[in-house]
Amino acid sequence: MLRIALAGFVAGYVLLVVSGQLKTMAGELVAIWIVDGYLLGHSMVLRRRNKLAYLAGAFVGVLLGNLTGDETLYVASSFTFAGIVETCSAALLLQGVRSAGQLMQPRVFVRFLLAGCLIAPILSGMVAVVLLQGIFTSHPFSSFSNWVISDALGFLIFTPVSLVMHSDEWRTLLEPGSRRKSAGLLALTAIVATVVFMDTSYVGLYWMLPPLALLAFYAELSTVLVGTLLFICISVPLTIHGTGPLWLFPFPSMQDRILALQLFTVAALSIVLPITVLQTERNALLSAVTEGQRRFRNLAERSEEVLMELSGEGAFQYVSPRARAVLGYEPEMLRGTLLLGLVHQNDQNELQTVLRRAAATTDEQSAQYRLRRADGAFIWVRSFVVAMPSTTPGVRPALAFTVRDVDSHVVAEHRRMSDEKRLMDMAFVDGLTGLHNRRYLDRYVEQLLSSRLDTVHGQPVTVIFADIDYFKNFNDSYGHQTGDDCLREVGQCIRSTLRSSDTLARYGGEEFVVVLENCGQEEASQIAEFIRVAVESLTLDHGGSPLGHVTLSIGVAHGDIGSKADLDGLFVSADSALYVAKRAGRNRVMTAWDGPAPTVRPFSAA
Ligand code: GH3
Ligand code: MG
Ligand code: MG
Repeated sequence: MLRIALAGFVAGYVLLVVSGQLKTMAGELVAIWIVDGYLLGHSMVLRRRNKLAYLAGAFVGVLLGNLTGDETLYVASSFTFAGIVETCSAALLLQGVRSAGQLMQPRVFVRFLLAGCLIAPILSGMVAVVLLQGIFTSHPFSSFSNWVISDALGFLIFTPVSLVMHSDEWRTLLEPGSRRKSAGLLALTAIVATVVFMDTSYVGLYWMLPPLALLAFYAELSTVLVGTLLFICISVPLTIHGTGPLWLFPFPSMQDRILALQLFTVAALSIVLPITVLQTERNALLSAVTEGQRRFRNLAERSEEVLMELSGEGAFQYVSPRARAVLGYEPEMLRGTLLLGLVHQNDQNELQTVLRRAAATTDEQSAQYRLRRADGAFIWVRSFVVAMPSTTPGVRPALAFTVRDVDSHVVAEHRRMSDEKRLMDMAFVDGLTGLHNRRYLDRYVEQLLSSRLDTVHGQPVTVIFADIDYFKNFNDSYGHQTGDDCLREVGQCIRSTLRSSDTLARYGGEEFVVVLENCGQEEASQIAEFIRVAVESLTLDHGGSPLGHVTLSIGVAHGDIGSKADLDGLFVSADSALYVAKRAGRNRVMTAWDGPAPTVRPFSAA
């Protein structure tokens, strides 16, 4: 902290002495008041506590500097106090600004112009007028306008200079990329300033504007400030020493001539600094854009997904380099071609629907489909797509599109599903006849009473039991192998009489069960009769049967889907009806309509 106070003291003292020298050189007139602008800039980069120590040190330094001049203690203290009021009020109005780059942001710069070039100098000028009534206006140092303009110029130039010096921004002066350009522009400014201000025969003042404007356009902020300083360091001493274009005008006094130089400097800076402000902003934007592009390229190259942009018509507009690894295409090859041209024919409709939906909403859509690689092979990919609305009215939105290779996952999933299906088939299919087995029937009944119950509750259902007559004898007569063939043939025959939605299972041995959903009693008994007639019509020889052919006895039960007990009851009833059909002579259909002792009537007898 002591070091900071000491730095303030030294800066205040030295700058005041230098300003005093300039003042003496100019015949007790100040062209630019360096002290407050410099102190403001330095204090802005310090932390709050250090700021106070620095300004306190500076106060003592400036006071001592004033006292070493010829001033009385009262006059010296008044000037010092007015100066500190100026620095502190500007610092208060510019809180939070810590670098010249920040100061050059348009809004902050306007605040700086108001605070540093208007409010603070006018305020301190008024303090000086009040404290030094009588002395101030008669004192050659202190005409109010000279005070305000020289202090404003001091802020305008030395605050950014001081900020650049005390932050890291001075390094941009020496940046290898811009070193030669900066040096060239500074040399040009110095040469033009020297030539213009050494020549007293020609009004060449406006020749100062091109080099300053060039600096503003092409140099970094730090270089622009050094160039402005060079201009001031050359123009002020030369004018004071009696050369330069300002001597061509018949100014009544030196004070007026210095005022003219001040006004010219203000005019030049009002061109240079706004350009610098805009250029600084533009450079920041450019580097943000470049940085954004670099970041995007980095991500796009490292991403597992291919990033794409599709036109509203579905043509590739941008394809990230990842396309090489995932799809084998050079991104440039794809540009302009249609995405759908690479999509498997069977998946095109679905993808087209997804693209259309994405273009119509702002929601993200996704699709899984097969895409043709450069080597001709199709791979499964997953895409996410979202619309990027166009700013031009009437133009279809482009689509941001990602492609991820999910081939191995999808192939593995398909294999798993087909394995699962095969196992299920093995578990639920009867190996001999290829029909469903009893386990399947049990599961079907279970589903009917659980997951499907909401939709089927109360609907009519029919259970049909069919049993081959005298089958034991068939085996005995023709052998077990022929018995198997017969079972297969009868099974297929029953199947052929049913709708695909009807359920048929080999219930065991030579017994088959049919379940018909949504089928009335009358229709149920008719279907049972169709089955019986169909098998009989096969006219498979059966020497062991008094009927001469393979025939079926059938029991039918009919009811509504309600509880498990209801369904179990239907199975028992159908079985009982079958038993009755056997007893009644076989090759017939018996229906068991509701009730514990079912009324049984022969539907058809052989
Ligand atoms: P009914 O007219 O009373 O039905 O007399 P049935 O001889 O058909 O009845 P039973 O239940 O006494 O005999 C069923 C026979 O079915 C016993 C068995 O030899 C035969 N069987 C059961 N499963 C198979 C099979 O998978 N293949 C063959 N070939 N025969 C089977
Ligand atoms: Mg039998
Ligand atoms: Mg049997």
